[in-house]
Amino acid sequence: APPAPYRGRFAPSPTGPLHFGSLVAALGSWLFARSAGGEWRVRIEDIDPPREVAGATQAQLRTLAAFGLHPDGQVLHQRDRNDAYAAALRTLLASGDAFECHCSRSDLAASHGIHRRCVATHPRPDPAIRLRVPDGTRIAFDDALRGHFEQDVAAEVGDFVLRRADGLWAYQLAVVADDAAQGITDVVRGADLLDSTPRQILLQRQLGLPTPRYAHLPVVVDEEGRKLSKSLSALPLDDDAPLPALRAAWSALGQAGTSRLDDARDADAFLAHAIDGFDPSRIPRGGTRILAASHNAP
Ligand code: GLU
Repeated sequence: APPAPYRGRFAPSPTGPLHFGSLVAALGSWLFARSAGGEWRVRIEDIDPPREVAGATQAQLRTLAAFGLHPDGQVLHQRDRNDAYAAALRTLLASGDAFECHCSRSDLAASHGIHRRCVATHPRPDPAIRLRVPDGTRIAFDDALRGHFEQDVAAEVGDFVLRRADGLWAYQLAVVADDAAQGITDVVRGADLLDSTPRQILLQRQLGLPTPRYAHLPVVVDEEGRKLSKSLSALPLDDDAPLPALRAAWSALGQAGTSRLDDARDADAFLAHAIDGFDPSRIPRGGTRILAASHNAP
């Protein structure tokens, strides 16, 4: 069979407006997809209502449009995906890979937050559901940017939560169900999610789902080494001035300037030239890149 056509995605959580760090992930995933002649999907990861900010979803979609980053197909909303997550959970419970956990926070604290076996003394009315991770479960994969990555999921993560005690779905389960449902072939996202990837690959295997290729982009930090999304979270992208931020994101991805990019007058022109000039081998391989103050200047 011919290989599946490239399909990438950007999956923001609506916890606030998109900031510069989100733009690097959005632009990076968009460039990989478009330069491969592939599709680029957007998914709103709104599975955590307590952390959601009112109006953030619409603001994020407006910002992507203002920046010329137009998704293919329908935007998927995780809040509409309850049935799919429940079906995945039933599969894992039926196979014995998932189990009800009655441990309390203090039970877990005794094992440094890493769950190995239930030690709960009292059953809870609202147990969490976890994935059982047998001893010695090592997952390895080759990241397109970071190279070989390997994790002992049992020792480093332990039995992880699929549905929380408060009934909310865990990110790990939702992202695996959705990447498969959307036919994602290539996940391009920030390196802060690198150590979640082995958990996701493990879930894909237990659910019989394909594993996409992964590329983890450098996380942008400021001069003090703080993750930008935290330190500058109060600074949303300006929908009325996409070009300076696009140029800065291009440079944070290690990409070279050209006269055609310099001459671009709007986001669409910039992006059209960016597809041609995109060179993944220039993306910094480390997890972080210092954002020089000058990158903020138009
Ligand atoms: N929703 C996650 C975030 O905003 C990203 C999930 C992903 O790309 O897998 O950090």
